[in-house]
Amino acid sequence: NLILFWHRRDLRVTDNLGLSYAQSKGHSLVGCFCFDPDILNREDIAPVRLQYLLGCLQELQDNYQKLNHPFLLLQGKPEQVIPNLARDLGVMEVVWNRDVEPYSQLRDRRVTEGLKEKGIEVTTFWDQLLVAPEAIRTQTGNPYTVYTPFWKNWQGKQKLDPAAHLQPGGGFFEGQQNALEQVNVIPLPSLKDWGYSESEELVIIPGERAAQEQLQKFGDRSLEFYEQQRNTPSIEGTSKLSAALKLGAIGIRRVWQTTQQAIRKSTSDKSRQNIQTWQQELAWREFYQHVLYHFPELADGPYREPFKHFPWQNNPQHFQAWCEGKTGYPIVDAAMRQLNTTGWMHNRCRMIVASFLTKDLIINWQWGESYFMQHLIDGDLAANNGGWQWSASSGMDAKPLRIFNPSSQAQKFDPKAKYIRQWLPELKSVEAKDLVTGDIPPLVRQACHYPLPIVDHNQQQREFKQRYKQVKENL
Ligand code: FAD
Repeated sequence: NLILFWHRRDLRVTDNLGLSYAQSKGHSLVGCFCFDPDILNREDIAPVRLQYLLGCLQELQDNYQKLNHPFLLLQGKPEQVIPNLARDLGVMEVVWNRDVEPYSQLRDRRVTEGLKEKGIEVTTFWDQLLVAPEAIRTQTGNPYTVYTPFWKNWQGKQKLDPAAHLQPGGGFFEGQQNALEQVNVIPLPSLKDWGYSESEELVIIPGERAAQEQLQKFGDRSLEFYEQQRNTPSIEGTSKLSAALKLGAIGIRRVWQTTQQAIRKSTSDKSRQNIQTWQQELAWREFYQHVLYHFPELADGPYREPFKHFPWQNNPQHFQAWCEGKTGYPIVDAAMRQLNTTGWMHNRCRMIVASFLTKDLIINWQWGESYFMQHLIDGDLAANNGGWQWSASSGMDAKPLRIFNPSSQAQKFDPKAKYIRQWLPELKSVEAKDLVTGDIPPLVRQACHYPLPIVDHNQQQREFKQRYKQVKENL
């Protein structure tokens, strides 16, 4: 009797609810992963994210081997591949962890139908979330659309302990072994096989072990100072776990457990407050996943009606300058260069560049959303869409209307221009105060080969507000 576990965005053998259930059934277990052309051929795929994925798969494959379970890499449309594989292996049950994304839900319904037609059982779990989307509602029974009341409710919900690790497996019967050998598997591809060049060194080391070490390091060194450090992009004050959480190289229960242990050990209200602030970030992650699950239309456009007809300026040259980090606003350009060079950007800077694109350049936030997805190692539909809609004021939690002033942001969060200097080496010789205010004389800009500001912040702010007002009045 065989049981098949289908990995998707849960690339690990520890703290994996579905996998631990599959093993608990006491049958022989086969793990698999399917390269889905509908995902791989998307326009917004980031090579750096694929490289991270391949690194995680490499380790997952090794872990399966060490634990003496077969692990199969497949290719094709999952609605065909998974039911056929289950049939060929004579599997009695297929198990996976659920996802919130509209595409994944549709795919999973099709795979389920295919399996049911063949009389094969399907069991699924909510593994990537601490609280399942159906398990939390407002008093009127609706899904939440505002974060603060969501957090209050979510915080009080019971969270599970980490799930059991995958245990070493036994052998297979001859017939099963034969069936396994007949299956059409592929070797682990390289990024080059897909026509992309590899980054020499990824900003985040892929895999389960690296994610656990990163969690440990963050828990030991930075968690209790999170609140003070989280907004300073020049220091490593945040966990850098987003890519691991996106692809499930680490289990969310394990992450949560770390915060609870830290709270138990903490000796001051201040450090407890810091830890809770980080818990709130984990809750933002869940909030955006819950809203995407309940309102799948978010993936295709603005949540708020007026934004469906917003008169964006959409100047392609301005967009190009933003993408390349050549807007003439040092903090914006530094952040975009960090993204283009590493595939990661600090959260404070994500907010600054998103506000700049939408409120200063008056460019449709969906252009920025897509550019981020093409470059982020942690690119995730729910978090990215949520972040962009928040920044554009088109999302659920839109009040007050937020417009970041790039110069006040830099003065507050990068006062010595350390971050700006790191990513804009051509401005190394310019004084810190000029870098953060952006008041760099034109001749100095010219000498440093650094552009003049492409727009005037104050003028564009007035322009945006006027357009926003009109759109609201026309409702
Ligand atoms: P930490 O500060 O250590 O936070 C811990 C974890 O909480 C993160 O790893 C992440 O999983 C989650 N988290 C933190 N902040 C948020 C948030 N605002 N929304 C949702 N989850 C959060 N995050 C992504 O994972 N993928 C994205 O594609 C993404 N796109 C974004 C786009 C914009 C415009 C903005 C403003 C934010 C975006 N974020 C995204 C959220 C946030 O910037 C990153 O999660 C964070 O910078 C990752 O760094 P970290 O792991 O060190 O975070």
